[in-house]
Amino acid sequence: MFDGTYSIRTHTAAEVTAACIDQQVTLAGWVGKRRDHGGLIFVDLRDRSGIIQLRIDPEQSGEAFALGEQIRPEWVLAVTGVVKARPADAVNPNIPTGDVEVIVDTLTVLNRAKTPPFEIEDGIETDEAVRLRWRYLDIRRPEVTRILELRSRVTAAFRNALGERGFLEIETPILTKATPEGARDFIVPARLAPGKFYALPQSPQLFKQLTMIAGLERYYQIARCFRDEDLRADRQPEFTQVDVEMSFVTQEDVMQLAEDVMVEVMRTVDYELPTPLRRISYADALDTYGSDRPDTRFDLKLVDCSDIFGASAFKVFASAIASGGVVKAIKAPGAGDWARSRYDALGKLAVDAGAKGMAWIAFTAAGEVKSPIVKFFSDEEMAQLRERLDIHEGDLVVFGADQRDVANEVLGVVRLALADQLELPREGFDPLWVVDFPLFLKDKETGRWTANHHPFTRPFDEDLDKLTDDPGSVLSYSYDLVLNGYEVGGGTLRIHDEDLQLRVLAELGHDEAAARGQFGFLLDALSYGAPPHGGIALGLDRLVMILAGLDSIRDVIAFPKTSSGSDLMTAAPAPVTDRALRDLHIRVD
Ligand code: ASP
Repeated sequence: MFDGTYSIRTHTAAEVTAACIDQQVTLAGWVGKRRDHGGLIFVDLRDRSGIIQLRIDPEQSGEAFALGEQIRPEWVLAVTGVVKARPADAVNPNIPTGDVEVIVDTLTVLNRAKTPPFEIEDGIETDEAVRLRWRYLDIRRPEVTRILELRSRVTAAFRNALGERGFLEIETPILTKATPEGARDFIVPARLAPGKFYALPQSPQLFKQLTMIAGLERYYQIARCFRDEDLRADRQPEFTQVDVEMSFVTQEDVMQLAEDVMVEVMRTVDYELPTPLRRISYADALDTYGSDRPDTRFDLKLVDCSDIFGASAFKVFASAIASGGVVKAIKAPGAGDWARSRYDALGKLAVDAGAKGMAWIAFTAAGEVKSPIVKFFSDEEMAQLRERLDIHEGDLVVFGADQRDVANEVLGVVRLALADQLELPREGFDPLWVVDFPLFLKDKETGRWTANHHPFTRPFDEDLDKLTDDPGSVLSYSYDLVLNGYEVGGGTLRIHDEDLQLRVLAELGHDEAAARGQFGFLLDALSYGAPPHGGIALGLDRLVMILAGLDSIRDVIAFPKTSSGSDLMTAAPAPVTDRALRDLHIRVD
């Protein structure tokens, strides 16, 4: 039976505690720090579990001591010795094995190592590119190992929670046809079908729907998804979703299931998720926080002031309202005494986010009002503004005056910058659901309707008659799980009716022939008794990143890619031989 020890060792480092005193143990691991204390050698031996101190004393074993003088960091050792309490003045309270050491009797060098390019320890300041080039050494560092352990526990918690609830774990193809999730596809040339290509799945969306049509009723998969898009700190070209689909359910059922599963997952970090989670509609999220994935751990809400400034002498405000727009404001307590350059920098941020400019008023702690615009305000406007925002000395007020969606988006960006600059506390977890997304969004460049989630999302029953005449107002059965300003999950009920699916695809610009060309297999399947179904996908990388308190998903992926999509260790992507290209019938310009 495999009891966790190998014949090479009896204990892991972390198991060697005071309970083992006077026992003989055999350990194996890597050389961490080595200290020569005139005639005595101390070695920190590291394995995945932790670190244990070895004491190599020539009186105990001359042979071990001779080897001990040669060993270098990251050499791989096996040692046998007896566990002893450390002298009181040598106890290290910072590690769990800090009150014992192993007096080495025999030492075997299992392998040597070159000098590593950086220290294998926590808290190093080595450039990320260097760490990624030697990622296997980076992972040896305890803080990185701990993250991958957490990820494994989170994955296991998902598997358990879903397995216990009757979900089947099903694998779906990686070499497949495009699944539209709003990104570009990675494509793979098909050698056996010259000129044809597979697409890597942006998600298993269509296959999981097909498992429902296949009668499996409850599906899940820890699924790798591939999206060829510009990368950010919370995006990778390949990432992992906990993908879930259920039949004969309402939106409530899927959300309830997701909450139950999340309760179990959050217990991996000893956090008791308070359920039911709060809900906010997409429209309210944008109106209140300027984002459909609001970070609600701090306030800084957007406040509508349009009614105050409709007839303002400040033309920027009056004309925004006259053209159907809004005037909205954020009050930032504590920012009223900043240097003017900081307000200008915020203004630049607003312009980069799509504003024409950003009006501001600083109410200094000394009771002054500084602003380029207040001279245009009437006393009445000023009084109403003070009352609406409950202004105090030391407050800054910034404005967005534009069409509602633009003002919201701009202030959403400014809101986050203000929170950063004010260093507002952002501790703990604040999960919430964002619900009732519109079915379609208008593409700013082409003016065409695009799917807000994906084209298989079911419109509200009561909105069906608006589908053709007023598509922008149609809402959908949809729900995003938002945690600390990140979308950690998203799902929808699906269209299970072929005609409705064709109507929605038509609104997205696919006539029936095009729809059948691209999604014929799905449409066909829908015509064979598709059950009502829906699901959700939770982003595993992002979730682990948040649970670990990190801000880059590269840190929670064993072998991640850089923001330009390259793997610094293997040097992928890389050229291939002419021969390989010929076989694939591909010519590279
Ligand atoms: N397939 C969707 C996504 O990847 C999630 C879902 O609708 O279940 O975002």
